[in-house]
Amino acid sequence: MTTAMKPMILVVEDERSVADSIVYALRTDGCEPVWVTTGGAAREELRAREIALIILDIGLPDVNGFDLCREIRRSHEVPIIFLTARAEELDRVAGLEIGADDYVTKPFSPRELSARVRTVLRRTLQQRSRSAAPAVSSSFPFSIDDHRRLISYFGKTLTLTHAEYRLLEQLVRRPGWVYSREQLLDLLWDEPGATSARGIDSHVKSLRSKLRAVRPDVEAIETRRGQGYALRERW
Ligand code: CA
Repeated sequence: MTTAMKPMILVVEDERSVADSIVYALRTDGCEPVWVTTGGAAREELRAREIALIILDIGLPDVNGFDLCREIRRSHEVPIIFLTARAEELDRVAGLEIGADDYVTKPFSPRELSARVRTVLRRTLQQRSRSAAPAVSSSFPFSIDDHRRLISYFGKTLTLTHAEYRLLEQLVRRPGWVYSREQLLDLLWDEPGATSARGIDSHVKSLRSKLRAVRPDVEAIETRRGQGYALRERW
């Protein structure tokens, strides 16, 4: 494998000992790590290099990792894995619209993190080839047009409200991933009519009827009792 083919991984972590172990594990695993300690330096590296994935610590000296992630998401599709220091941050991470692809709680094994990096890179590649391929070649019926904020389902473009789009986009990006109503509320906190669990239920209800109008025989959004909602995993 030549250097040019190695995926470049941006490690944004201000603790040297943590960063060292990540960098070592990534290098051992055939990646090319680039280590920075601040959000500012991360932005510069993103501009200057072809970054394949970002490992992002939540607690950085100059910026909150969540905010940095949101900012990056506005202009980059690069996958992001969060490093969180506390277990209670997990819930926040799991549901948010901020678009992390995975997260790892400290303390973690660098080898495990490296394995997650591989998984996310593989998934991203698959998603890219899926969205680039014609719809007929894949059984997954959704496709998202980020720029025009449109989602199509079995080849039909759905007419969605802003809130429905955001909700469905979140579900479609991670089939099988269960979102609690609270997490979906976090996601839609600024949408009218989404101020309670009941508001979320009603958005989901209306989404379902739009999906059923296209394919009455398919239940795309599943209710997981006592847990929340998920997009059907297998298609
Ligand atoms: Ca830190």
